[in-house]
Amino acid sequence: MTQTSGGSKIAVIAGAGPAGLTAALELLRRSNIQPLVFETDVQVGGISKTVNYRGNRMDLGGHRFFSKSDWVMRWWQDILPIDSDEVDVNEPLRISYQHDSRELVPARRTPSSPDAVLLVRNRLSRIFYRRRFFDYPLKLNAGTIGNMGFLETLKVGLSYGQARAAPRRPERSLEDFFVNRFGERLYRTFFKDYTEKVWGVPCTEISAEWGAQRIKGLSVTRAVAHALATQFRSNADTAQKQTETSLIERFLYPKLGPGQMWEEVAGLVRGRGGEIHLAHSVIGLERNGAQVTAAIVRDESCGSVRVVPCDFFVSTMPVKHLTSMLRPTDDHVVRVAGNLPYRDFMTAGLLLDRMRLRGKGTRANGMPPDNWIYIQEPDVRIGRLQVFNNWSPSMVANADSIWLGLEYFCRAGDDLWSMQDAQFVDFAARELEKIGMIDQRDVLDGTVVRVPRAYPAYFGEYREFDRVRAFLDSFTNLYPVGRNGMHRYNNQDHSMLAANAAVTAMINSGAGKSEIWEINTEDDYHESVERVA
Ligand SMILES: Cc1cc2nc3c(=O)[nH]c(=O)nc-3n(C[C@H](O)[C@H](O)[C@H](O)COP(=O)(O)OP(=O)(O)OC[C@H]3O[C@@H](n4cnc5c(N)ncnc54)[C@H](O)[C@@H]3O)c2cc1C
Repeated sequence: MTQTSGGSKIAVIAGAGPAGLTAALELLRRSNIQPLVFETDVQVGGISKTVNYRGNRMDLGGHRFFSKSDWVMRWWQDILPIDSDEVDVNEPLRISYQHDSRELVPARRTPSSPDAVLLVRNRLSRIFYRRRFFDYPLKLNAGTIGNMGFLETLKVGLSYGQARAAPRRPERSLEDFFVNRFGERLYRTFFKDYTEKVWGVPCTEISAEWGAQRIKGLSVTRAVAHALATQFRSNADTAQKQTETSLIERFLYPKLGPGQMWEEVAGLVRGRGGEIHLAHSVIGLERNGAQVTAAIVRDESCGSVRVVPCDFFVSTMPVKHLTSMLRPTDDHVVRVAGNLPYRDFMTAGLLLDRMRLRGKGTRANGMPPDNWIYIQEPDVRIGRLQVFNNWSPSMVANADSIWLGLEYFCRAGDDLWSMQDAQFVDFAARELEKIGMIDQRDVLDGTVVRVPRAYPAYFGEYREFDRVRAFLDSFTNLYPVGRNGMHRYNNQDHSMLAANAAVTAMINSGAGKSEIWEINTEDDYHESVERVA
């Protein structure tokens, strides 16, 4: 076994995102295994990093900090305490996220600096369609009926009735799944285009099981029941109002964006003697039978390559890369891993001094109150709009400016991905102007961030993923964890839980290793890209 001069074993960790850094910190806290982290990027955080553009901060996707796991919620607060200005530290704090809600007792800890805190944010996100705002999740209320028009609402109702009376059987595709639950018309209005924009494949090619797994708790019957109940409820029912207030979705958010959490964690890892090498990629692995014996690492700043011996190898890099580095002899494994599908993602950051929106909650400069807005308009390619000011006012250098993220789901190498940055900023601004949200002349500055493999997808070769998993499991000291590391639609908390379970298994000579794959197999909440969810 490899040992440091101090006699401890070495874990090489590929990637300094949430999974890699959680593994590193937990190894240092709970064992004498020495973590050596190698990260291709020049900063930590992975997809959960904060990009700083001239003092304006971007969050690639809008990362809500919420978990069903007490361990994760405590872990985060241990790194960044909740801002005491935001809460009464003597009272439990109720936060909620999609179908779940929980109480927290904020830790009484003085932050290391005024900025090193978690904010408590209320969620507001709406759908923009036909140049109007619809509630999200979609509600059957006067606003929706007014926006759709009485006749269209009637047609939606009839189509729903038809779908209930004669559902599509067998239910094979995601389209069948949607139509059976919402009717053809509502599906075509609100679900089809957006889902296809996100995944880049027709709903007819996505399996119905995927819908069943991802889209729980949504039904028209429930929406109608809720709408009726709301109509008949007395306005004076204050107890009910209080309940509703407590059900407003609230989540935690680092004051300087999600990457702040991971920059703090990186500081702790280094403080405890762990190593994090930025701009260093793992480009190959050496193996001896069922053991990974060393990682081959390239320094991206000068191109030099070295061999780093290890006792354990923790991978958060894409499964397809990991598998090819292990050189399987089974062609089937090579084919499945090599063809695992992904969806890529691009964000244009736009700085403006005003927008053209009006209505409830909109600021004098036209900035909407939303954290993000789903753009349903079929005549533009933008999928979602982030309003970074509303995630944390500290995301913006000048409080009077509006700092937006225009998100596009795409494929690396396609026409969007290949545009020059300046051309893409211009294209994105023109799209927002086209749907009446801004005047392009009000754009002060802009930038572009590309995120390859933002979404590990569950189509095509993924159906045979078990073959790849069995191959990876055959290595006794290999721990694939995290989102792309396990080809799982993981949120940060799932990635962290997998990393923590890997640390436990490393400490316990591999016991519990296979259970790592059980994490995030039945949760029903995920990032908001699944507006359909
Ligand atoms: C649009 C969007 C919205 C999201 N919203 C939320 C949300 O609201 N809440 C939430 O909790 N989560 C959210 N997520 C998910 C969250 O971003 C991920 O779960 C999390 O970042 C995964 O952490 P990870 O460490 O597993 O992987 P990553 O963040 O992907 O980190 C992996 C790291 O490994 C590095 N790497 C890869 N290959 C190599 C190599 N060969 N050598 C060295 N380094 C390598 C990469 O550069 C990267 O830094 C969202 C994701 C997206 C795309």
